[in-house]
Amino acid sequence: MNRQTSEILYKEAEDLIVGGVNSPSRAFKGVGGGTPVFMEKGEGAHFYDVDGNQYIDYLGAYGPIITGHAHPHITDAIKSAAENGVLYGTPTKLENQFAKMLTDAIPSLEKVRFVNSGTEAVMTTIRIARAYTNRTKVIKFAGCYHGHSDLVLVAAGSGPSTLGSPDSAGVPTSIAQEVITVPFNDIEPLKEALNKFGDDIAAVLVEPIVGNFGLVEPKAGFLEEVKQLTHENDSLLIFDEVITAFRFHYGSAQEITNVQADMTAMGKIIGGGLPIGAYGGRVDIMEQVAPLGPAYQAGTMSGNPASMAAGIACLEVLQQEGIYEEMDRLGDKLEHGILEHAKKYDLPVKINRLKGMLTVFFTDEEVTNYEQAENTDGEMFSRFFKLMLDQGINLAPSKYEAWFLTTAHTEEDIDQTLNAVEAAFSQL
Ligand code: PMP
Repeated sequence: MNRQTSEILYKEAEDLIVGGVNSPSRAFKGVGGGTPVFMEKGEGAHFYDVDGNQYIDYLGAYGPIITGHAHPHITDAIKSAAENGVLYGTPTKLENQFAKMLTDAIPSLEKVRFVNSGTEAVMTTIRIARAYTNRTKVIKFAGCYHGHSDLVLVAAGSGPSTLGSPDSAGVPTSIAQEVITVPFNDIEPLKEALNKFGDDIAAVLVEPIVGNFGLVEPKAGFLEEVKQLTHENDSLLIFDEVITAFRFHYGSAQEITNVQADMTAMGKIIGGGLPIGAYGGRVDIMEQVAPLGPAYQAGTMSGNPASMAAGIACLEVLQQEGIYEEMDRLGDKLEHGILEHAKKYDLPVKINRLKGMLTVFFTDEEVTNYEQAENTDGEMFSRFFKLMLDQGINLAPSKYEAWFLTTAHTEEDIDQTLNAVEAAFSQL
């Protein structure tokens, strides 16, 4: 596949933009390097690059594009919002309308606030939890990603009851010391951490269904126990639902797992592809936020009419009958097709899937936590990724990411993808 124009543009980008990209994972470092593809046009489940090559897209812009690219209902909503002016700095009716849609869909959201990214949403829930509890420390789970604010760019210490160390240059050790990282799907280390640091723990923060070391579901009873221990400690439970909100059904992971959080952070899908974040939760907690309470959070772009309109339109599409069932059906077909080809070529493949989201791990072991995800074969994934890309299948360039189906994928797309998988597997 000729991608000469992408190569030229990437060289130019490297002179102008740090690393040539505006978010590091786009630079193909997760698959051992290479030239990222410069896309020019997205349409439904398909992408067209600057060299005229066509791709079936499973990246979904890392999650937001659940209705496929350039969905006409969302495009129309953005156009009409733009015609009325894209930013007011005053309240608008759209914000009420969208807040009502979110609070109606997710029972634990008694009040919400819109921001501009998932990073902002999570960062603010932590500030509010600290304000509410008058404590400073946070427990998080290894491998979960919560954006790039200082407090969550922290790696595990050497054991569950040790404090974290910075995962990024520029994050002060003093801040990393406010975070304790424990393994997902394992309750004992959480207990240990709460026993040791209990009086200082403001919040336990978790992706209820993990999307950031591949798709990993909580084991039966795990989130219930996390919630119980968190509340026994008078700490708050924060769910990071930036990926999961509206991903698996019309609502959040809380209705699926039957565990409600005190506060929830959202992003991605709820913006219909435009920049957005939102957080919300119990009224008494949310009333900590300015102008009602002492915890400050603000934003020039927050609740802007274009993001509101796109978000409303996206949720309207997702309200249609049978949407999630169809993504599940195609996801099932994809999963079983890939596993069949893996068997045929005797490759170690495990798939974690929930509805239209799945991760293909190159391993013989089940993946239920970050350590197991780390142990999967990254080198084989990299070769697979490149073989797929060269056949016009656009996956996320990292073994820790997921494939996202959209409402635009068709049976034919899945068949074509499975043919490409078979060809790739035959060369692995
Ligand atoms: N939380 C989770 C679970 C995410 O997956 C991400 C982004 N991948 C974020 C937070 C950060 O969101 P954003 O990139 O919009 O800042």
